[in-house]
Amino acid sequence: MKIPFVDLKAQYKTIKNEIDEAIQSVIDETAFIKGKYVTQFEKAYAEKYGVKHCIGVANGTDAIYITLKALGVGKGDEVITVANSWISTSETISQTGARPVFVDIDPDYYTIDHRLIEEKITKNTKAILPVHLFGQPAEIIKIKKICDKYNLHLIEDCAQAHFAEYNNQKVGTFGIAGTFSFFPGKNLGAYGDAGAIISNDDDFAVKARMYANHGALIKHKHEVEGINSRLDGLQAAILSVKLKYISEWNEKRLKNATLYNKLLAGVDGIAIPQIRENVKHVFHLYVIRVADRDTLQKYLAEKGISTGIHYPTPLPFLRAYKYLGHKSEEFPVVSKYQDQILSLPMFPELTADQMEYVIESIKASLNAA
Ligand SMILES: *Cc1c(COP(=O)(O)O)cnc(C)c1O
Repeated sequence: MKIPFVDLKAQYKTIKNEIDEAIQSVIDETAFIKGKYVTQFEKAYAEKYGVKHCIGVANGTDAIYITLKALGVGKGDEVITVANSWISTSETISQTGARPVFVDIDPDYYTIDHRLIEEKITKNTKAILPVHLFGQPAEIIKIKKICDKYNLHLIEDCAQAHFAEYNNQKVGTFGIAGTFSFFPGKNLGAYGDAGAIISNDDDFAVKARMYANHGALIKHKHEVEGINSRLDGLQAAILSVKLKYISEWNEKRLKNATLYNKLLAGVDGIAIPQIRENVKHVFHLYVIRVADRDTLQKYLAEKGISTGIHYPTPLPFLRAYKYLGHKSEEFPVVSKYQDQILSLPMFPELTADQMEYVIESIKASLNAA
């Protein structure tokens, strides 16, 4: 059986008519840049999050960069973030001129270890940038307390956690801003690049919108130099259709994760994902740990099962950060886990048959070892 890591076609088939219609409307109205489809999506997204502002941008990386710039983060500043994430989280910090300061991950939940944050705070620290990784909220209330105590900005990277919740509050609404990616494979995915920033802060929202639009809110009135980072009309129209289904899709992901957990319960040598108390985990990724990860991954590939590694090299150990001179002893948890983590196929349309085949194959691989 061939099982893709993510099956975007399966999802498209379930909403084909609505999507095709939405795309045709944008073309009929040539509403490619700005226009009503973008405004409609921004409004719908803000409403669903219960926030005052949503700013559509070109992608999730820009969403972080624009947020940092709108907050005035720059040269000489430090931003604390997590050692395991996609590079967007840290490269955007560097792009402002600030320095990324990495913190190891929590051994049970894989998000930033909040107990290790305070020791990294210096007089130059401006913000903390946790990532709700794999769809699991970080320990956000405790992180917010640290931010309040030291007067730091809290920016939430929600690229993998659309509509995840901590204590019944949606992640992305705890700090000054929540940043989102709508990369096609994300829980809410466009048909190309797209992203957004949400916030309840009027002043921040104005600055972010301005920065994303060449430093201008009104055409030709450039208050500052900015960048060109737009959510385009086609993507906005597609996202508006898909937004109606996101809760249902997230439920299906959780259901799939629950079945994986059940099928893996009692299988020796596999650590299954742990879910924090009081959170809604949206399972962007289903990540297990196994001692001989590479052998298992190879075996699954031979069985037609696509898997992923998130991430093979933690951020501090990438060539890009060699200049920071980090050593593996500084990040003992992620150093150990980088060779053990394996992301299994995960998407809403995954069937029980497919999941059973994945788990049977895992068992066969372990037994063969
Ligand atoms: C995908 C992702 C991003 C970047 O999003 P793009 O839309 O690809 O720019 C940022 N942070 C995390 C954690 C991500 O997974």
